[in-house]
Amino acid sequence: MIPLEEARAHVLAGCPPAATHPVALADARGGVLAEAVVAAAAVPPFANTAMDGFAVRAADTTEASDDAPVALRIVGTLRAGMAPGAALDRPLAAGEALRIMTGAPMPPGADAVVPVEATEVAPDDRTVQVGEAAAPGRHVRPAGDDLQPGDAVFAPGTVLGPAHLGVLAGLGRTEVLVHRRPVVGVFSTGDELVPPGRPLAPGQIHDSNRLALLAAVADAGFPTVDLGLVPDDEGAIAGTVAAAVETCDAVITSGGVSMGDFDYVKVVLDRLGAMRRMQVAIRPAKPLAFWTVARPGGSGSVPVFGLPGNPVSSLVSFELFARPGLRRMAGHGDTDLDRPIVRATAGEPFGRRPDGKVHFVRARCRWDDAIGGFRAVSAGAQGSHQLRALADANALVRLPDGSGVGAGDPVDVVLLG
Ligand code: AMP
Ligand code: MG
Repeated sequence: MIPLEEARAHVLAGCPPAATHPVALADARGGVLAEAVVAAAAVPPFANTAMDGFAVRAADTTEASDDAPVALRIVGTLRAGMAPGAALDRPLAAGEALRIMTGAPMPPGADAVVPVEATEVAPDDRTVQVGEAAAPGRHVRPAGDDLQPGDAVFAPGTVLGPAHLGVLAGLGRTEVLVHRRPVVGVFSTGDELVPPGRPLAPGQIHDSNRLALLAAVADAGFPTVDLGLVPDDEGAIAGTVAAAVETCDAVITSGGVSMGDFDYVKVVLDRLGAMRRMQVAIRPAKPLAFWTVARPGGSGSVPVFGLPGNPVSSLVSFELFARPGLRRMAGHGDTDLDRPIVRATAGEPFGRRPDGKVHFVRARCRWDDAIGGFRAVSAGAQGSHQLRALADANALVRLPDGSGVGAGDPVDVVLLG
């Protein structure tokens, strides 16, 4: 057995960051930035009002208060989208006020805004009583208040979320340079497998891994290719892999990598190149095969993840190896490959025996106000074939080798969702 960290490092080394390409902002969500974004313009581009109200000369309002309001003459209205001079063809003069809506540019001559709540307009709509003093700049958003031209906005490696895309759009950008997202092919191996929807003959089970792994890949943000269900036949598996590397940037298989007599994936992959088969010191998901297959035409190589067939093992192995590898290919930084880990309190005993492995217990983890921290409890039966507990889980409790922990003890928890 090898330590988890060693297996993980081996896998990551075979998953180099992909090439970069420009994409439309609408397609960039979740992408990893491959350029340094510098503000080409000021945001906001002009000084504008943060409130609906009246643009004024602050000096006119110095004496204003609720009890002794100051009357100003209303000389026009400026709505968002109008040019600053559209309502008045000269600067605002002493004793004047301009009705203004949030986002409209500050008219020349005005240097503050009195919110509508602090004003009262005369019935003839010609004057406004201002009931509070406005300091210069009050409720005015200066040009460049968010971004100045030349500001370093986002560094390469930034993961583009909704607000990042908003900032880029605010700068007038339509495209952004990101790393290509790997297209991931998934197939299952196993003579005992039939697709859901077909009746089971004696000895057969439904193929559940393929759908679950395709969903896990999609959840991680990568496009998928369903490569189907492949029998335990060397030729069929070799053909599937050979075809897959032409269209996919990474391949995930399940089954056939353990110690059984008919473990064909490892035989075929061994023949096609140098594959590393690992017995990782974890439970579940001990067996793992990892291989890089040269692309035809010499354009790099395609990582192939041979995950174990047991349904819990395949998904846990995906979490611990394939997901970080795919994220690395997508350009995520080395400190941003894994799920977050938090310290929680064991809500019940997590028993185990020493076996040289780290155990990952399917668990439910929630914030608990009573203890002021996270609290984790088992999500159910923990066999590597017992998928229901993983479905009910939102976390994996990481139990180091030893004899487990008692209720109330601290545990490290990998947050899955
Ligand atoms: P293997 O890794 O091929 O030795 O399979 C280990 C266990 O996982 C066996 O009980 C298989 O029947 C089961 N298994 C393998 N592949 C799948 C699959 N795609 N869906 C559900 N169970 C599977
Ligand atoms: Mg099998």
